[in-house]
Amino acid sequence: MARYTGNKCKLCRREGMKLFLKGQRCFADKCALARRDYPPGVHAQKRTKVTEYGVRLREKQKLKRIYGVQEKQFKLYFKEAERLKGNTGENLLMLLERRLDNVVLASGFALSRNHARQLINHGHFSVNGRRVDISSYQVRPGDEVTPGKKDNTRKIVAEAVEVNKSQPVPSWIDSQRDALTSKVTGIPTRDDVPHPIQEQLIIELCSK
Ligand code: SF4
Repeated sequence: MARYTGNKCKLCRREGMKLFLKGQRCFADKCALARRDYPPGVHAQKRTKVTEYGVRLREKQKLKRIYGVQEKQFKLYFKEAERLKGNTGENLLMLLERRLDNVVLASGFALSRNHARQLINHGHFSVNGRRVDISSYQVRPGDEVTPGKKDNTRKIVAEAVEVNKSQPVPSWIDSQRDALTSKVTGIPTRDDVPHPIQEQLIIELCSK
């Protein structure tokens, strides 16, 4: 799947909030948003009236950028969320939360979402003992996510664990960080989503 390779801090500046796309740098003084709290671009500081459509569009872009998915893939998630029983907005968030790269990041095994994705794509992670190199892989309750056995892999993951040791782990993941293993214990609920997303706005935009 395609991915965004441009300047990530510009995405945060465009959305006017921290999207935490660069790991520890996002918590430091070096955060671009802390220094330039305005949208990127020559004319971006001009005041323009934001339409209702614009508000909804920004919410959708924000969600896509947080989870690093492109429009085509997002449409597939939305279709699947509509197909599933229950609230479409919550289904959409649950599908994104259950991506393997999100689980690796939430378990503390990577420094950022991009780092998690790179480790997975390079075959450094297994699910239930089988190597999985697809970042969008949907985990299920009972799945065990572990880094590969190679020394180099375990060293990289152990370093990330050390950096992330104070980071909380969502309730639906049982991450044994010392043992470098993580178990999915359930399906994430709306309360487990740590991002300030108004999914209703996205549904209003995409359901048209
Ligand atoms: Fe966003 Fe992180 Fe860049 Fe700050 S450092 S602007 S939070 S990606």
